[in-house]
Order: sequence, then C-alpha cells, then structure tokens
Amino acid sequence: MLRTILILGGSGEALALAAALAGWPGLRVITSLAGRTGQPRLPAGEVRIGGFGGASGLAAYLRAAGIAAVIDATHPFAARMGWHAAEACAAAGLPLLRLERPAWARREGDLWDDVDDWDAAVTLLGHRSRRVLLAVGRQDLAPFTALTDIWFLIRSVEAPQPWPPFAKALSLLAKGPFSYDEERALLLEHGIDTLVCKNSGGPTGAKLDAARDLGLRVVMRRRPSRPETPRASSLDQALAWEGLGLS
Ligand code: NAP
Repeated sequence: MLRTILILGGSGEALALAAALAGWPGLRVITSLAGRTGQPRLPAGEVRIGGFGGASGLAAYLRAAGIAAVIDATHPFAARMGWHAAEACAAAGLPLLRLERPAWARREGDLWDDVDDWDAAVTLLGHRSRRVLLAVGRQDLAPFTALTDIWFLIRSVEAPQPWPPFAKALSLLAKGPFSYDEERALLLEHGIDTLVCKNSGGPTGAKLDAARDLGLRVVMRRRPSRPETPRASSLDQALAWEGLGLS
C-alpha cells in the first residue's frame, strides 16, 4: 500500500522536495498550493490547488485523502498555514515537519533595522528615507502609501491589483533571483537610499550584498512566529525525517 505524503507548498523548498520524492517506491506525494499566483511553477507528483477552509477543513482533508504525514514547506512569511497544519495534524494524529530555509544573518557592514511589522518599517522610513526600493511582495504594499514624501521603486513578480495609491512610485515587474551586478546597478540607477524586504532567506540575497557595499540602509522584516514542530532547514534533513518512512 502506498504511503501518502502531503507537502504544503509555495516555496522553492517544496518544489525541490516534491522532485526528490517523485517516483520513490511506496510513496504517493501530493503538493498543495494556495492558488495565489496566476502561473505557479508546478511541482512533480500530484498537485491540489486552493485553501482547505482553515484548520478544521485541513483536518477533514487529511482524513479523506488518507494522508500519513505532512511537511509544511510554505514560504517563511506564510503566517497562518503552519498554525493550521499543526492544529490539523494534532487533531488527525499525524506527524508534521516544518521545512524552512535559514534566515539571512546580519554581516559586518550591514546597516539593518529589523522590524516585526510594516507599521514599524513605515515609521523608520518616515524619519530618514527619500528613495526606497520596496521588495516586499505585491500583497504588502498598502501601509507604505501613507509616506507621500518618499519615492518608491516597487519590485514584484506580478502587478498589484488594484494598484495602491502611492504619491510617487515606479512599478518594476521582475522575477528573481538577481545577480549582485544587477542589484547594484538597479540601486545606483534609481538613487535608492533604503531597501525594504522580508527576511525570506535563500537565493535572493544579492540585494543585501549590494546594499552593504553601497552603504545603504535595509529595513528587514523578521519572520512570523511558528508553532513548535520538528524542523528541517535543508532538503537532506527533510529526506532524513522519520515521518516520511523512507529507510
Ligand atoms: P498564509 O497566511 O499562511 O495562508 C493564508 C491561507 O491561504 C491559509 O489559511 C490557507 O487557506 C491558504 N493556504 C496557504 N498556503 C496554502 C497551501 N500550501 N495549500 C493550500 N492552501 C494554502 O499564507 P500567505 O502569506 O497568504 O501565502 C499564500 C501562499 O503563498 C503560501 O502557500 C505561501 O507558501 C506562498 N508564498 C507566500 C509568500 C509570502 O511572503 N507570504 C511568498 C511566496 C510564496 P485555508 O485557511 O482556506 O486553508
């Protein structure tokens, strides 16, 4: 009988895990996507798309689909899904692993301000910034529209719908990761003095290297809190998790 694994996806780690597990003897792998992006990169194996209807909906799905173990590989800034997964797995009596890439760590020369929410970022920017690169994702732009004296360069993969009412802003649609040279050139071309981003970790860190070398400030949002669950910070660690039953 096949052992069915549910991967909660939406990250590069989820794609890599699904690819690594595809075709593994005795395993059936389903990746779940929230369905936010128009053309998501589809993982190997089976895919289901759309919310479950909260923790209770997820618990019902786990039972109906005969899931044996769950890996929460959602993006580090997916603030709710991990809590729903913990509650649903506890209710269904299933093992749960959190797969999350390491956060970026501050290095010598970094001019970072860590914040817990965007309101704190807005306050900091209001005191000292003039030209800001916002690399926060298109869902998180609204709080920054209050800063009418600041010029924003807004980088996102897809266009925000609707466009938030910024006083002075330019939209740049682009999908990373970007090279150090590309990031440095962009920051210089637009005379950026502050970069705002989330501590996503992973392959999009060249902007931080460029900001450090140019002496620019970075307002860095910390990751949201997560439930206490077993954790893996790499694909290899996830593959060694006993809940998969791979040995
Ligand atoms: P969230 O706050 O944790 O989740 C909000 C709701 O979206 C959940 O309650 C759930 O709906 C649904 N959902 C989230 N992940 C799901 C999944 N893998 N499969 C099925 N339903 C899911 O997450 P978010 O910040 O809105 O992000 C949505 C998705 O985009 C996540 O899967 C995440 O991995 C990905 N993503 C997020 C970011 C970010 O910065 N937030 C960046 C890149 C990718 P129900 O309650 O109805 O089940």
